[in-house]
Amino acid sequence: MLKKQILVTGDRPTGSLHLGHYVGTLENRLKLQDDFNCFFLIADLHMLTTHNDKVEELKQNIQSLVLDWLAVGLDPNRSNFYLQSLIPEISELTLLLSMICSVPRVQRIPTLKEKASMLNDQENYSVGLLSYPVLMSSDILIFNASKVPVGEDQLSHVELARELSRRFNSMYQELIVEPEPLISDFPRLIGTDGKAKMSKSLNNSIFLSDSEDEVNKKVMRMFTDPNRTSADIPGKVEGNPVFIYHDIFNDDLDELNEFKERYRKGTIGDVEVKKSLARRINTFLEPIREKRLKFSNNSEIFDIIIDGSKKAREIAKENLEKIKDAMKISFKEF
Ligand code: ATP
Ligand code: MG
Repeated sequence: MLKKQILVTGDRPTGSLHLGHYVGTLENRLKLQDDFNCFFLIADLHMLTTHNDKVEELKQNIQSLVLDWLAVGLDPNRSNFYLQSLIPEISELTLLLSMICSVPRVQRIPTLKEKASMLNDQENYSVGLLSYPVLMSSDILIFNASKVPVGEDQLSHVELARELSRRFNSMYQELIVEPEPLISDFPRLIGTDGKAKMSKSLNNSIFLSDSEDEVNKKVMRMFTDPNRTSADIPGKVEGNPVFIYHDIFNDDLDELNEFKERYRKGTIGDVEVKKSLARRINTFLEPIREKRLKFSNNSEIFDIIIDGSKKAREIAKENLEKIKDAMKISFKEF
């Protein structure tokens, strides 16, 4: 039997998952779950790079992240769910990789620049934040992942992992698989505010765990075409978040095309378009809600994490050993 290739990806336990996560990466994970040997990372160390004061909620956030994964259909019997901090080999590899990665190289990463500029005091710019792209390379390279399904904001991180694997292979030994990113059809879903990408931390998200009522309220408050102050003014469909979401969640193309035509002409109100959208999103979320109810037992969730982490750690240990051998810092004889 051919050995399956390895897929690694994950999320920070910083809050609930939202529609952006679903279309940006979860959907690809679900599609590839059987074809790849999947490692799904609960990135608690990454959480510390920007939220080192939020440790009290961490356990709860880990639990709710895994519950989100189970609710969408990621399956711990087919994949490994693992917690980053339970695999110290990832941190050790981060240190080793940091020796072959320059500071200016990480400083050029756009997401790092953005995160650093959002700090209200530059004194809070930690070494941990500076080196998180190296930590992410380690997350990927330690398992010899060949596929990494991520949203657009993560592309530059996978690029760094590719570079570091090539550098390692040419400096020491051809050992580490060069990973490839996998981008979805919707790699950067905009938030309900129509401004930034939908993000857990920006209060512009529709969460996979939202109730029907919450979805209705959020959709009704959504940003549309700002120039359209009444229903009889012709509106813009392109770039309008309500229509971006319709394109994803409304599979009734006749209705959608009619909405677009009438919107452009100014013969339909925002309310009608939004009500239909809220219905579609709720239909999409319904099976996820049902599944969530089945997995509310906490001890089961922790067992899944411990089990997955044990299995993942075995592989990480083995691979790190080879990497250290290649770097001539494996002094087993001492
Ligand atoms: P945080 O604000 O804490 O960074 P986040 O919402 O950006 O949270 P992450 O855990 O950083 O979520 O991202 C997890 C994965 O989801 C990444 O692959 C990321 O690219 C993807 N992702 C996050 N937001 C979106 C979005 N709006 N559209 C598409 N993909 C997204
Ligand atoms: Mg993020």
